[in-house]
Amino acid sequence: TTTMRLLNTKNIYILGMNENNFPSKKNYNFFYNEINVDILKNIGIDILSQKDENIRDLLRFLLAISTAENKLYLSYNTEDDELQSKYIDEIKSKAEVVEENYDIKSYLKPSKEEISTINDFKRFISSYNLDDIDDEKINCIFDSDIIKIKSNFKHRESDILFDDETLKKHKLNFENHRYSVSQLETYQRCPQQYYYKYVLKVKEIYTGDKSFEMRSIGTVFHEVLEKYYRFYKEDNIKKIDTRNNIELSNIEEAFLLDRFKEGFLNLGYSIMDAKVKNYIYVYEKLAKDLIEKDILYLSLYNRKFYPEEFEKKFEIILDDFKSDKSIKLHGFIDRIDMDNSGNKILVDYKLGKSSGKSLGDFEKDKTLQFPIYSFVKNVVGCKYMTMRGSNISEFFIMDDFASKYSNAKSVLDLEARRNFEKLTKEKVFTIVKDIEDAKFNIGTEIKDDCKICDYRKICEYRRGGAI
Ligand code: SF4
Repeated sequence: TTTMRLLNTKNIYILGMNENNFPSKKNYNFFYNEINVDILKNIGIDILSQKDENIRDLLRFLLAISTAENKLYLSYNTEDDELQSKYIDEIKSKAEVVEENYDIKSYLKPSKEEISTINDFKRFISSYNLDDIDDEKINCIFDSDIIKIKSNFKHRESDILFDDETLKKHKLNFENHRYSVSQLETYQRCPQQYYYKYVLKVKEIYTGDKSFEMRSIGTVFHEVLEKYYRFYKEDNIKKIDTRNNIELSNIEEAFLLDRFKEGFLNLGYSIMDAKVKNYIYVYEKLAKDLIEKDILYLSLYNRKFYPEEFEKKFEIILDDFKSDKSIKLHGFIDRIDMDNSGNKILVDYKLGKSSGKSLGDFEKDKTLQFPIYSFVKNVVGCKYMTMRGSNISEFFIMDDFASKYSNAKSVLDLEARRNFEKLTKEKVFTIVKDIEDAKFNIGTEIKDDCKICDYRKICEYRRGGAI
């Protein structure tokens, strides 16, 4: 208002003209209240009563509106049953007023991080003008896609016809693309989910405390196992060779407990919280059982394998000699067990009982992780270690290396391995072609996938009805 005293302005906009804002309402407490204001004033404290403040706000308001030469715009919020300011009533009774209602949300473009409803998503996607975009992250949003979504959000695969130009642009984005194994698994599970996550790059939407908690436990569990196997590497070699002292010592258990505490603390949890204390206690016991079982099983292999490498990144190039095309893949494995000849068994840690997959799941297009990892040099098997239920299961193991506990359905001979690799390649090449051809407008076939999907709040293909 200080600047306003000196300037006249063509149009004035005043926002938030709600009761309690214009005039502002005081927040009283036991000490500072209307009864005490006079006493406080008398002892020299510079303070205004509610009446004084009303007068001051009214003067400011009059000063502000009197500088408008053409038009005065006053807006107030009608959400949450808020009342308009009494100043508006007064103006209405004395001047000609035009009233209009706006849904202000439709004027605001959400950022990708804020998308949580279908309407947010519509606003997000419809407000892009491709000419303005100088962001390589989103320049693979297609013109025709946007036009379709603008005109009718309920699009389906057959609705979208990519023009040649758009498709060319999209394909360029994927030239020499390095796919992660989890990207291909995401596409295999649900092309639409891939589209949200890797094409539009919509950040995963927070879907509640429960899933956040589970992810935190999963992270801590991975860290604890990694630290344990690194620290006790030499001790475990002896245990595997001799099959002695497989049960964890008190010192090893204390090590696990400390690592769990450390992990939860690093994630910002209070380890004094009863729930977190309980997690630490329960998961330490589960980790102990799992490790003991693991060491016992390792000691039972025909040829001995030892936990050797941890948290390993790797790259794989798959070649298709017929089409002369190569696909670059990269992945990450929790642990590599090795025998003395350099043969490898890959190990993936899982938290939930049902997270481990089998060769049967591979045939049903439900996993690609281990099939792709099997192309890593010298891999003779892959297995899951599952925390809940302390379960160890092999995804596959070559017959020469199987142990007493190997499940016959997971054991492969050379010919079966070749067929398995051939099928894996076919699946990978088909998925990559579909991604390059922009076949994204297909949802998952499995209802349960939608229940745990990060995009379920914005997805038109969601199965299983309302959330
Ligand atoms: S809600 Fe279901 S259909 Fe939609 S992206 Fe997620 S998994 Fe796919």
